[in-house]
Amino acid sequence: MLPPLLLLLLLLLQLPHSWSSPPFQTSQDFTRCLFSQNSTVATHTNLIYTPASPKYSLLLQSTIRDARFNTTLAPKPSVIVTPTSLSQIQASVHCSREHGLQLRVRSGGHDYEGLSYTSPYPNYPFVVLDLVNFRNISVDVPEKTAWVQSGAILGELYHRIGEASPNLAFPAGSCHTVGVGGHFSGGGFGFLMRKFGLAADNVLDAVLIDSKGSVLDRASMGEDMFWAIRGGGGNSFGIVLAWKVRLVSVPSPVTVFRVIRTLEQNALEIVHRWQSVASKLPKELMIELAVTTTNSSTTTTTIRATFNALFQGRSNSLVSLMQSRFPDLGLRKGDCQEMSWLEAMVFHAGFPSNSSVDVLLDRTISPLVGSFKYKSKSDYVQDAVPKAALLKIWGKLFETDVGGGIILMALTR
Ligand SMILES: Cc1cc2nc3c(=O)[nH]c(=O)nc-3n(C[C@H](O)[C@H](O)[C@H](O)COP(=O)(O)OP(=O)(O)OC[C@H]3O[C@@H](n4cnc5c(N)ncnc54)[C@H](O)[C@@H]3O)c2cc1C
Repeated sequence: MLPPLLLLLLLLLQLPHSWSSPPFQTSQDFTRCLFSQNSTVATHTNLIYTPASPKYSLLLQSTIRDARFNTTLAPKPSVIVTPTSLSQIQASVHCSREHGLQLRVRSGGHDYEGLSYTSPYPNYPFVVLDLVNFRNISVDVPEKTAWVQSGAILGELYHRIGEASPNLAFPAGSCHTVGVGGHFSGGGFGFLMRKFGLAADNVLDAVLIDSKGSVLDRASMGEDMFWAIRGGGGNSFGIVLAWKVRLVSVPSPVTVFRVIRTLEQNALEIVHRWQSVASKLPKELMIELAVTTTNSSTTTTTIRATFNALFQGRSNSLVSLMQSRFPDLGLRKGDCQEMSWLEAMVFHAGFPSNSSVDVLLDRTISPLVGSFKYKSKSDYVQDAVPKAALLKIWGKLFETDVGGGIILMALTR
């Protein structure tokens, strides 16, 4: 049996919305409660944002990554809180309970259903706790560990690790603006996954605030809860404020490639073969696949399969490995680029070659996040998808009412 493939289908859609205006009274009650609970609240000017605040909309939109939820019709929070201290978070938990408000936690805002900043229930008032100020990262090179706060984005984490050592890395996703909080609590797959597992597999400890406002670490939350917060989904068990992670050793340089094959260049055969070959290649090599349609006005529309890879080794070894084990792709030395792991994260975040590694610190721009409306779904496939089924699925990408889409395929081991 083949290892499961992770299939992610992204469809660009036009969907209707319902409107719910945040009740003014609720905002006031919650804000008053926060003032009474926490003495530091009064001294902070940039802490509480109600719909009446001039910067409310700007802050709300700052990390909305799906235009489907960036409309006047999408349900909005009664209050957004951007805490700077633990006690302010505890006060927010207390006041949400006190006034019957749902509490939504936002780290990087990449939730596929916008659950960190909007609500599927139009008449349920809610508060957004935005962890944008909880972004500290400390790397311990000798111990090969790091503490990272949930509001940091993956790019910030990678940058700090790469700065600290060219031979240390962390196995997590490729989109640099994804937030640590939602990513680690949902799993987190990326180019080091085959060798080192998911981000969640490499969490050693965590700081969790539960629904009573208690602050727990691994020992005090217990192993069951510690298991649950590493993959059980964000916002399900409490607010994870920070994570202690195990760093992994990588060589420098590593090698990356991005190779594109269209249907006319045998994409169907190669993708089908990839399903059975890629999992038998050494764990140091991860090849992901993105299938989409070409959108160039000068070419006939066709299917385009993009093979993105990271190899923990030199390009010469990679080329001979591919020639002997997966010649179907036709990889050449000229397709490969050697670089540090940190630079490889810039490459796989979709930035142009020669971009500075500092682009990973930019929370506002990501080549992988568009300003369009989309719907994402993922699934696990236990057996290779037959060629006829691949063609049928790919055919969906041409349907005009869908508007476009992308299918991402990754091996889970
Ligand atoms: C463009 C794009 C690229 C992606 N690439 C990858 C990839 O390469 N690999 C991969 O595995 N995934 C990928 N994802 C999926 C991504 O990992 C998840 O959507 C993840 O949950 C986003 O985390 P976030 O903090 O950015 O999102 P948020 O919207 O802030 O949070 C997501 C969920 O977690 C909750 N949450 C957030 N912070 C906390 C916290 N501190 N404590 C408790 N709950 C919290 C939120 O309430 C929400 O329910 C991608 C998503 C997008 C949009």
